[in-house]
Amino acid sequence: MIEERIKAKIEKGERIAEHDALELFQSDDILMIGRLAQAARGLRKADRVVSYVLYRNINYTNVCISMCSFCAFSRNMKDSDAYVLTTEEIREKIRAAMVVGTNAILLQGGLHPDCKIDFFIELLKTIKDEFPDMHIHAFSPPEILHIARNSNIAVEGIIELFKDAGLSSIPGGGAEILVDEIRREVSPLKCTASEWLMVMEKAHMQGVKSSATMMFGGIENYTDRIMHLSLLRELQDRTKGFTAFIPWTYQPNREERHRGTEAQRHKVGNNELLFETDPLDLKMKEEAKISTCRRLREMEHANQGITETSAVDYLKTLAIARIYLDNFIHIEASLVTQGPKIAQLALEFGADDIGSIMMEENVVRAAGNSYIATEAELIYLIKEAGYIPAKRDVLYNQYTMV
Ligand code: SF4
Repeated sequence: MIEERIKAKIEKGERIAEHDALELFQSDDILMIGRLAQAARGLRKADRVVSYVLYRNINYTNVCISMCSFCAFSRNMKDSDAYVLTTEEIREKIRAAMVVGTNAILLQGGLHPDCKIDFFIELLKTIKDEFPDMHIHAFSPPEILHIARNSNIAVEGIIELFKDAGLSSIPGGGAEILVDEIRREVSPLKCTASEWLMVMEKAHMQGVKSSATMMFGGIENYTDRIMHLSLLRELQDRTKGFTAFIPWTYQPNREERHRGTEAQRHKVGNNELLFETDPLDLKMKEEAKISTCRRLREMEHANQGITETSAVDYLKTLAIARIYLDNFIHIEASLVTQGPKIAQLALEFGADDIGSIMMEENVVRAAGNSYIATEAELIYLIKEAGYIPAKRDVLYNQYTMV
């Protein structure tokens, strides 16, 4: 039986193979998968501590030249609500964060065509000058690659410059599914799978740790998810630079998308973008901006009105990741995308961290799907589930029992 076979492997410290992971994905016995995940969690983190971190989220710009089909946050430069935060605005946000007791910021933004290395170095240095103890968790691989290309500097050079200017660690965003066939559908202008991995490897080689993520529940299949996990496991074997794995689900936009109402955009050729505002063409352009990914999903679920994957799929995927990723100590439940109740359940499916409380989360909220909880609620949820809450630092080095 599958449970005995996988359990024996876990207990012997043997790695499960891709076909084992596929068998688990194909099983409907979600509780069995949860039991196996908890056995794997127990080997890697024996205590019952469940951690969380408090971040100030700062999205320095919403201007982005990428065209991710799921993104309701990005704008083009001509949009009336496009912005780039000033250094003073960023300082103000950090000061406010310190009042509520955090010394960690998550700094991410769109791929702005005009922001080059000098902009980012000044930003990092300014933050470090005024807030020397601030942990700066910043710039996902697509941003680093974009800045490298925009500034004509190699990725290694960008990471070195960022590190010298105060960068502490890198968020694992922009991974989506690390299979190029899928990426071409959901994020046609974002970095490839091998580029994402290359940026992470170069960061890890310079001692800069990062998290790893996966956004699933779109058009990928189980094999794609396993490929994603396999690539992460392989890189972690070599660098040991990932602190945690954070899976979350594709978030359909529930609010009217800005793009298409004020400024139309669509892809021409391979990389070229057109920005137009001709209202006569609105319907046609609206069609053009909806990705194949989205159309497929909507067609698939047209009769049921279903636009996102289920809680069972989320919990199963998180649990299989816990079992498969035997070289990751921490698996993080996504409070922001799944909500407090599912995040609480995820603790029985292998998660040992309940994500982050983010001041001013903008990206998921732009899609109309963001859940928030106060620190007190989060502590309550962890205790109610029978675990011991602890506030941690970004790199999982320090825990403060609460
Ligand atoms: S997800 Fe990120 S890279 Fe993609 S369009 Fe939105 S801001 Fe740009």
